[in-house]
Amino acid sequence: MLILVVPIENPPLKVLKYLEYELPRRLPGTSVEVVKKVLDLPSSVYNPHRLQYDSDAVLEFLKGVELSRRGFRILGVADVDAYSDQLNFVFGQAEIYGRYAVIYLQRLRPEFYGLVANENLFLERALKESMHELGHTFGLLHCTNKYCVMHFSNSIFDTDVKLPKFCTRCLRTLLTYFTRFRSGKAPLY
Ligand SMILES: [Zn+2]
Ligand SMILES: [Zn+2]
Repeated sequence: MLILVVPIENPPLKVLKYLEYELPRRLPGTSVEVVKKVLDLPSSVYNPHRLQYDSDAVLEFLKGVELSRRGFRILGVADVDAYSDQLNFVFGQAEIYGRYAVIYLQRLRPEFYGLVANENLFLERALKESMHELGHTFGLLHCTNKYCVMHFSNSIFDTDVKLPKFCTRCLRTLLTYFTRFRSGKAPLY
């Protein structure tokens, strides 16, 4: 079960390498490959009034890009800020049982909040948001356990409280989905 990580708008190589190493350890049975080509977003998905990207449009753009069909899941890692519907901003977006997910890096950096840069914190946040969005593509919904990676993040504080881990219940649901996928019975995009 190959997860393709797609760099969008020049994310730091360190983040890509970190996700490549960590994600398969957190998602049993998956492997991760970082796509060599870095994608640029078209101006049509940028909202100049909000100075942010439209996340729904970014996800649609990602779906339309010519990518290898080898990917079980496609995770876009975009170094931009984005919003969606009624939300002022989003850390990421995915569809339940969809094939595509995306995370946005800008609000994961402490510098965004006027704080001192902290690379480890930044990397861990990127990992949590990646696990969260991929979790949605495996059918997981938001979890009430605030330490579970599937807990909804209203702010970066929520992201920092949750752990880069699925709670027992979410992990069970995830593993059940993987088993069903391998036997061809899982719902698909
Ligand atoms: Zn979510
Ligand atoms: Zn959970």
